[in-house]
Amino acid sequence: MLEIKNIKYEYKKGPLVLKDISFEMDKGDCLCILGPNGTGKTTLLKIILGFFKPLAGSLYIDAQNLSEITPHKRAKLIAYVSQSSNIIFPYTVREVILMGRTSHLSIGASMTSADNSIVDEVMKGLCITHLQYKYFQNLSGGEKQMVMIARALSQQAKYIIMDEPTSSLDYSNQIKILNTIKQLSKAGYGIIMTSHSPNHAFTSCNKVLLMKDGYIMDFGSPEKVVSSKNLTKLYNADVGVAKAILDDELFTYASKVCVPII
Ligand code: ADP
Repeated sequence: MLEIKNIKYEYKKGPLVLKDISFEMDKGDCLCILGPNGTGKTTLLKIILGFFKPLAGSLYIDAQNLSEITPHKRAKLIAYVSQSSNIIFPYTVREVILMGRTSHLSIGASMTSADNSIVDEVMKGLCITHLQYKYFQNLSGGEKQMVMIARALSQQAKYIIMDEPTSSLDYSNQIKILNTIKQLSKAGYGIIMTSHSPNHAFTSCNKVLLMKDGYIMDFGSPEKVVSSKNLTKLYNADVGVAKAILDDELFTYASKVCVPII
């Protein structure tokens, strides 16, 4: 279980950016963090990843206090898929995914056949084996994002943090990544993702955290939390939540959808 307790944070004696953040999630949960720009979502992710030390509060994974473990050990518990993947050197896809294994290496050790087998398995699971000898730099945005997810999976951490995983992807790749996220949480990974599309809470997640001005506005299941009232307050704009029932020649499907009222 990941437990976040009463986290506060400020940048260099500035105003409090995170004011009192507490929530819990399990492996197998997919948590979607929604909120307007500048509300503290990325800062919270960076605190969970250990990039920043909180001003107050504590973080536990499976009862281990994250402030008491080394970055090396933390990397075995939590992996990160960042918003932009700027790998400027000419690494192949296989080499990029192998980088995820570094947290398992002792100092001076080289990758073993076991590390390479894990990379093979991960690529197979995500159906990207055909890309392995291509240069990462030459991939499309959607392919790059799948490789970054593969790198996180090869780290074999049970929690994966994704900052806006579908930003700047075309519609087809957004669907592919959202589907992958759903499958990963079904496979037992704990996923935390941020998004600017509240619909993502319905498509891929079973928990939602609404953040506004450094506070948690609401937390719980998408059904409970993603409502017209909450979204309109969160974004300070009229947003409705409708029931969508599809019954046509292609699909039979029921879900909720968020609709801007314009
Ligand atoms: P979000 O991800 O929700 O858009 P951020 O966590 O990036 O929000 O930012 C929260 C607040 O912290 C914003 O007011 C932002 O300007 C401020 N902030 C972010 N990074 C820094 C930084 N490195 N130094 C000072 N202030 C920062």
